[in-house]
Amino acid sequence: MKVLVTGAAGFIGSHLVERLCGRGDSVIGFDNFDPFYARARKEANLAGVPERADFHLQEGDLRSSADIARAFEIAPGAIDVVVHLAALAGIRPSVVDPERFYDVNVMGTLRLIEAAKRAGCRRLVFASSSSVYGLDSALPFQEDAACGRPLSPYASSKRAGELAAFHAHHLDRLAVTTLRFFTVYGPRQRPDLAIHKFTRLISEGQPIELHGDGSSERDYTFIDDIVDGVVAAIDRQAADPEPRHHVYNLGGSRSTSLRGLVDLLGQAIGETPRIVWKPDRPEDLPRTLADVSRAHAELGFSPRVTLAEGCGRFVAWWRAHAR
Ligand code: NAD
Repeated sequence: MKVLVTGAAGFIGSHLVERLCGRGDSVIGFDNFDPFYARARKEANLAGVPERADFHLQEGDLRSSADIARAFEIAPGAIDVVVHLAALAGIRPSVVDPERFYDVNVMGTLRLIEAAKRAGCRRLVFASSSSVYGLDSALPFQEDAACGRPLSPYASSKRAGELAAFHAHHLDRLAVTTLRFFTVYGPRQRPDLAIHKFTRLISEGQPIELHGDGSSERDYTFIDDIVDGVVAAIDRQAADPEPRHHVYNLGGSRSTSLRGLVDLLGQAIGETPRIVWKPDRPEDLPRTLADVSRAHAELGFSPRVTLAEGCGRFVAWWRAHAR
């Protein structure tokens, strides 16, 4: 299969590229090495792709139609499926600079879909987020919730991307699978995310800032489980002769309080965390929890790695590679 992976140099993208190359797929990566975090870290992310792999990285920006078109032309033969992971991620930064988030996440997604259609690519797997569930979504979150009250520009930009993908399916008969990831963690996790940031600060003996009273809850999902779900979605779509539209939650299907997470990390690191309490942030959901029954039934998705085990694996990676 020939796969275009956008955001290939990022946390989730680099793991997916490795998995796809490992099973013999031909992979074109697309990434602009956005400076949200260091280019060197993203280059290191891709260092694990074997030399002999059929992998080509096309550096380019989702804000440029010409860059995107080049990615579709890079290798002979049509691209079978686009896995669209590239985005500006992060809830807080989106509140600070919403226009840039919309440029990349909404217009960039639309540009990518138009380019795919022009290039004759008929299949899209779109990375969305648990953040699309907002004030109108009951727990555990189910895919058919209205998702009409997102709490941040990041959340609404992801929802808008989902909607653009839906009308591409409806009007142009593209096969579209939207995957809503729930707080993904593991080796190479983005440095802005809680598990990574807290590991660094606790290890350095510095205090960590917790917003709220520690009772907010997240459904954490280990990277290997997410990659299993993405690959299953790619394969199920490829095996279906009809161009269908699907939405799946990919989550650990257990939620853990912020305070509980900090305790687990403290144990994994062997230090007692020092905490500075800060006010709640209105852009954050108080709780996330995925109902994964649809992904389980249709993709065979079954998250395996517990948070305690995953935190241990993250800390081991961080000590070896990221400190
Ligand atoms: P990441 O920042 O590590 O990866 C995103 C990649 O996209 C980066 O390498 C970045 O350089 C690239 N990118 C950004 N802007 C671009 C542009 N204009 N043109 C081309 N490339 C661009 O983030 P991640 O955590 O790997 O997230 C991957 C996807 O999963 C994103 O769509 C994100 O919204 C989604 N997601 C992630 C999580 C999570 O917990 N990590 C949860 C829900 C959804």
